Amino acid sequence: MAAPQHILAIDQGTTSTRAIIFDAETRAVATAQREFAQHYPQPGWVEHDPEDIWRDTLATAREALAASGIGADGIAGIGITNQRETVVVWDRATGDAIHHAIVWQDRRTAELCARLKEAGHESAVRAKTGLLLDPYFSATKLAWILDHVDGARARADNGELAFGTIDSFLLWRLTGGAVHATDITNASRTLLYDIHAQRWDEDLCALFDVPAGLLPEVHDNSHLFGHTADGLFDAAIPIAGVAGDQQAALFGQACFAKGMVKSTYGTGCFMLLNTGEEAVASEHRLLTTPAYRLDGQVTYALEGSIFIAGAAVKWLRDGIGVITHARDTDDMATQVPDSHGVYMVPAFVGLGAPHWDPDARGAIFGLTLGSTQAHLARAALEAVGYQTMDLADAMVADGGDPPATIRVDGGMAANDWLCQFLADMLRVPVERPRHLETTALGAAFHAGLATGVWKDLDALAATWARGACFEPKMPNGARATLAEGWHAALAKTLTVRG
Ligand code: ADP
Repeated sequence: MAAPQHILAIDQGTTSTRAIIFDAETRAVATAQREFAQHYPQPGWVEHDPEDIWRDTLATAREALAASGIGADGIAGIGITNQRETVVVWDRATGDAIHHAIVWQDRRTAELCARLKEAGHESAVRAKTGLLLDPYFSATKLAWILDHVDGARARADNGELAFGTIDSFLLWRLTGGAVHATDITNASRTLLYDIHAQRWDEDLCALFDVPAGLLPEVHDNSHLFGHTADGLFDAAIPIAGVAGDQQAALFGQACFAKGMVKSTYGTGCFMLLNTGEEAVASEHRLLTTPAYRLDGQVTYALEGSIFIAGAAVKWLRDGIGVITHARDTDDMATQVPDSHGVYMVPAFVGLGAPHWDPDARGAIFGLTLGSTQAHLARAALEAVGYQTMDLADAMVADGGDPPATIRVDGGMAANDWLCQFLADMLRVPVERPRHLETTALGAAFHAGLATGVWKDLDALAATWARGACFEPKMPNGARATLAEGWHAALAKTLTVRG
């Protein structure tokens, strides 16, 4: 029998879990997807039930396999990509989580982060991790679980517990507890990993009060992590690729050359600039982060992270009911000539880059009796464009050349109006690939490199195909007026000055 040529990608996102089977030409031959419950136990807190995540991962993987007609023995490897920073702590004996997963958007550790900042720890933390002291990252969430679940600290000290980001938890479950590992991109978002020395850091573990014994082993993104346990699928499948969702999207967009940029629009927006072998330290509060590590060689990225993009559209739908479907915003924004002076600052969970203001909260400015649902919808989309513009400006201020183009993806990138507005605000062509599932594809690429489905990065780059390109066309004066209105609204919302 010929060597298997299909890859099963598992994309465990913030609001849904997807399984996609790709063939060697990167066609998605089968897809399964399930949305799962979000828990908001207090304002600013966000949790997931790890059992929901595991149940949906297994169910969607099995569904996609069944729909494809390809048996488990026809799958060369599994690639996992995941919502990053989200924290799970589980019992090594039973595999059961000891608390709900605390999600990346959760702000419960804002006070601890502020205390550590005041005590002067931020610059040392930044130098080692490329990150900032913000509740977004894993370490303070992990410490919170140890401090708030009865007996957890003692059990952690006894070696009874394991910590992982979602990839690590899924690896554990998929291998029946045989493997406790993660990859460099997920490890690098914990605040515990030195991205230059490429190892867990004792001083950081001490600072955040995290016992090193909880931490997984860290590997390259393309690596044979283990095999699926008996009974899960018809045959054992190698798990051969792991990457955090944003780094996976950069890889899936084939942004392999220094200077290439991708921006992903899902729940949040994450813009990554490939900086090659150099870990560029940002002076404008962007993050320095490994994009991928292949054969021990790291390629770094500068990252701008915006917490709310599509989530504002989801809020328009589920929170206040002004739209029925997320895609309605495209038509609504087109219906009106402008937002009628309405600006939405979507600081629902604070603001990320480049402000890092965990205490800011969402606001809508400029409402008049003439404001309509269409203006609100347009303001929500415009906010995504303005925030991306601020990230791009920070990247250039950090010494990057203005990018020649920006490759976009994620569920919200299906919105033509948004893509055009992005091109206008950033003054660069916005390229949308034929397949928007680039996050899953990036995970598949990693698994496919490790299992020989693809030979090298050139073979991967050759699969990238443009679906649409949006050229900037807004006059500069109009752009400047809009940007000015945005910055005024933003200034009224910020509680800190970065
Ligand atoms: P994630 O992986 O973060 O769960 P997705 O990439 O699936 O997110 O994107 C879903 C998000 O995009 C949702 O928040 C949804 O509101 C938004 N979205 C999806 N389609 C559109 C659209 N056509 N226009 C605007 N927003 C959209």
